[in-house]
Amino acid sequence: MKAAVFKEKGVLKIEDVPEPEVGPSDVLLRINHCAICGSDLHRYLYGMLEPGSIMGHEYSGTIVEKGEEVQGFQIGDRVTCSGGRINPGKEVFPLPARYSAKLKGFQSVSTNGAYAEYMAVDADRLMKIPDSVTNLEASMTEPLTVAIHAVRLSKIRLGDRVLVIGAGPIGLLTQQCAALSGAIRVFVSETSSARRTLASELGASAVYDPRNIDLVEELVGQTEIGVDIAFECAGANPTLQTALEAVRIAGRVIVVSLAWEPVQCLPVDWVGREIEMKASYGALPGDWPIALELIESGNVILKPMISEIIPLEDIQSAFQQLLKPDVKWVQVVVAFE
Ligand SMILES: [Zn+2]
Repeated sequence: MKAAVFKEKGVLKIEDVPEPEVGPSDVLLRINHCAICGSDLHRYLYGMLEPGSIMGHEYSGTIVEKGEEVQGFQIGDRVTCSGGRINPGKEVFPLPARYSAKLKGFQSVSTNGAYAEYMAVDADRLMKIPDSVTNLEASMTEPLTVAIHAVRLSKIRLGDRVLVIGAGPIGLLTQQCAALSGAIRVFVSETSSARRTLASELGASAVYDPRNIDLVEELVGQTEIGVDIAFECAGANPTLQTALEAVRIAGRVIVVSLAWEPVQCLPVDWVGREIEMKASYGALPGDWPIALELIESGNVILKPMISEIIPLEDIQSAFQQLLKPDVKWVQVVVAFE
């Protein structure tokens, strides 16, 4: 089968690789779509995975083969990833790394990802895609869970004023989830004009280019005291400090972005105002069905976020494009069908 294989820092190559083996509790998926995740870009840029690995975890697929122990799924079912389900009589799916003191928070990926024609996966890690949800939409279930997790952790309340820093896929989904959760104003800060336009279309109360404005002063002007919650979805150098300054006294900063390089912040600015800072990483099992239901109900809008649908052959150049600072694209999805 064809797969995009990680060779070295900054290099993905399309190669013919053996089809994955299907264990007794696994199904074999023919991948329909796989969305490109910012965390894959980081792994690629910083070489955070073994050469020979195949990335891709935001997928939809069709079951083409199943192991003898698999229950509840049939050949032909359309599925997407899930946070794991519990089968009676079977061990609970292993808890994620967040519960292990020995593992670093950010996990590497296996050799068996979805930037490939086929992928074997434990059936307990799958959810069926509802009839009204397309394979393309379903491939964005995983990034949506990240936004849901961040918003639920933020303890947002009806009437809160919110700042989202960074309008990439996670920021735009966080923006929508915050509004759905009762935020009365959602401000978005983003340097790319294409992404700012999209944030406006998706309902942001106001969008700002932080290079052209004193964002903190502007937000204090708009809210009188600062925003209640800031979601840091950018991971650039000034953005954590901006989030800490933009929230009101005893406000909350939810750090969603994965910054791979040191970023500056001045602790006294937030200690003196008792800012709560909380990291949000990935999602919990319960966030997954919520994501699929929000897509199915149309409460979360995905379509305008998908800028490019590319064949697997174009993945190397798409990764290069997505890493450019003035990127116009938001979500890029690899299509196999
Ligand atoms: Zn992802």
